[in-house]
Amino acid sequence: MPGTLFVVATPIGNLGDLSPRAIELLKAVALIAAEDTRHTRTLLDKFGIATATTSLPAFAEGERASSIISKLESGSDVALVTDAGTPAISDPGEKLVAEAITAGVKVVPIPGPAAFVAALSAGGLPTTRFHFLGFLPRQQSEAKAMIDEVAQLSATLVLYESPRRLGETLKHLHQWLGPRRAVVARELTKLHEEFVRDTLDQLATRYATAEVLGEVVVLVEGRTGDTRWSEDEVKRALQKGLESGERLKSLTTDLAKRSGWSSGDLYRIGLTLKD
Ligand code: SAM
Repeated sequence: MPGTLFVVATPIGNLGDLSPRAIELLKAVALIAAEDTRHTRTLLDKFGIATATTSLPAFAEGERASSIISKLESGSDVALVTDAGTPAISDPGEKLVAEAITAGVKVVPIPGPAAFVAALSAGGLPTTRFHFLGFLPRQQSEAKAMIDEVAQLSATLVLYESPRRLGETLKHLHQWLGPRRAVVARELTKLHEEFVRDTLDQLATRYATAEVLGEVVVLVEGRTGDTRWSEDEVKRALQKGLESGERLKSLTTDLAKRSGWSSGDLYRIGLTLKD
């Protein structure tokens, strides 16, 4: 009989969030596959867990997965953990889980913390429907393409971001999505936990220069009936696009997707600005 692969969530800050079931399981398995074994060893030591570890770093998940699958096939139970939160959520795990399933290995989740769930649950934006984007691509054109894809959704958008890029990302989100409510959820479950709830442009201004410490999740309200841009906002966006050399036709097509204005109306306003 092959062993079982347990996908175990670990704390995103507060060690009290490691569940009794997770502790019991981590003690019982033959091997723990960890994103970073040194980081995980600190957690294991705190809970008196002496189980052997093997590394499953994000950059080599494919290569390492096969030796973990062999271990499972030989009958050993293996637990998968990452540095924080739920494995396979913007973390290693997706490939290992898929390969384990292909190999006929049973995969069992041991649920627990995930930063995006914590942010959504207390953020105050609608949670009935949400769209998780993870980290935006570093390349600006790719990031914009990803946001364009979801600009029409009424679901709340959820993003992970590094504190260094927060200000820049909020500025772009405002440019690409227009005026919307948003939340920056920082240092969840930790001493300096903070929720800042405002509009995208206000948040972009706030984080443009301020040094941001710790980890952040960004929530952006989905498209609502009243997210139609004001005429001033439309004029400003058109003016900016024209000044940066964009063609009016493509500019209006692009703005129509996120401003709530028809491309015909935008084109007419654009012509008056050109004059
Ligand atoms: N697997 C993790 C999960 O379940 O949330 C996510 C791992 S991903 C590599 C790390 C990102 O998650 C951070 O850059 C940040 O966006 C978010 N994150 C993790 N811990 C957080 C915390 N305590 N507060 C706010 N965001 C956090």
